[in-house]
Amino acid sequence: MTSSLVEQVVAAVSRATGGASAPLHAPRFGGNELAYLKECLDTTFVSSVGPFVDRFERELAEYTGAKHAVAVVNGTAALHVGLLVAGVKPGDEVLVPALTFVATANAVAHSNAVPHFVDSCESNLGIDVPALRDYLTSNAERRDGLCINRKTGRVIRAVVPMHTFGHPVELDDLLRLAQDFNLAIVEDAAESLGSSYRGRHTGTIGLVGTLSFNGNKTITTGGGGALLTNDADLARRAKHLTTTAKLPHRWEFRHDEVAFNYRLPNLNAALGCAQLEQLPLFLAEKRRLYEKYREAFAGIEGARLLGEPADCVSNFWLQTLLLDEASASLRDPILAATNDAGLMTRPAWAAMHTLAAYRDCPRMPLPVAESLERRIINLPSSPILGAEIAA
Ligand SMILES: *Cc1c(COP(=O)(O)O)cnc(C)c1O
Repeated sequence: MTSSLVEQVVAAVSRATGGASAPLHAPRFGGNELAYLKECLDTTFVSSVGPFVDRFERELAEYTGAKHAVAVVNGTAALHVGLLVAGVKPGDEVLVPALTFVATANAVAHSNAVPHFVDSCESNLGIDVPALRDYLTSNAERRDGLCINRKTGRVIRAVVPMHTFGHPVELDDLLRLAQDFNLAIVEDAAESLGSSYRGRHTGTIGLVGTLSFNGNKTITTGGGGALLTNDADLARRAKHLTTTAKLPHRWEFRHDEVAFNYRLPNLNAALGCAQLEQLPLFLAEKRRLYEKYREAFAGIEGARLLGEPADCVSNFWLQTLLLDEASASLRDPILAATNDAGLMTRPAWAAMHTLAAYRDCPRMPLPVAESLERRIINLPSSPILGAEIAA
């Protein structure tokens, strides 16, 4: 007799993770973290200036291939400033996926703009570009180099692709769409450090990209984020806005506009430098963990493991099980059974248009995002679970 899907999933996750209790994503500190932190304390450079901030920015740019990186306090701040330097103005609309972490929509709201929610596709969980093109073709108007929402009359200024759980969005199609509709692309690459699309690192393909180094991300600085861009003027503007718009001077405190204190402390950057050294190892482990899940889930019907999109490299930040439509009702029983067994699984975020704060925002039809929201289960994804010494 075959066992139920619930039992099969518990057994498969248990097999892939070695059965021990497994958090969703635990950080790992196996390198120079302590040495670099001690250096901060010994030199007293713990705060808003220090050599690790410059080094972290330089190494991030090198690793991602971006011409410039600006380190900030968290990924939300990076997105906020990314939208501002991309030209988002109060009263604009910004296209963001309905299926994302709330920070994506919050950053738009922080910019006094209005999120306009977009549907996702089943293959990579990112923006469904063809559906968005059809929607804009009938609902937006191109006028004077702008994209205008016919219904609200507002300018649709930008689009924010989010590389869900580390899987890159179909960016070539999105670049064409953005060009056709005069939209700036701000990539939310918070989840996709180490992921690339046709050989280019995510976050470096749009006008601006943003990263997060929160504790549950692929590498962590405690809290932190960064902007990536190839545009020197945008990078300078981002640095200025995130450092209180202070004019350089040997002793004067003169600030030329209202700005933010978003700079990453040297302590956090020190952690970031040590973590970045281990990124290739973490990525190899996360890929190995994916292979273990693939083996464990082979032959199980009613659910599939999310794989790497064609022509892309995924960082496999969070391993993802996608239930078939017919098995969607088993999501909660599977979540309960795995968590009861000490295996930390989680559903996807509540879609943005279902949150009170964003209920009245404009949106395209969202059938796929709504369906995905009911069918996604994230599996234990810590890099250590894919370590060579692990079972
Ligand atoms: C983590 C994350 C962010 C940024 O989060 P912070 O906690 O502010 O660093 C933004 N967008 C997405 C999709 C994320 O997963």
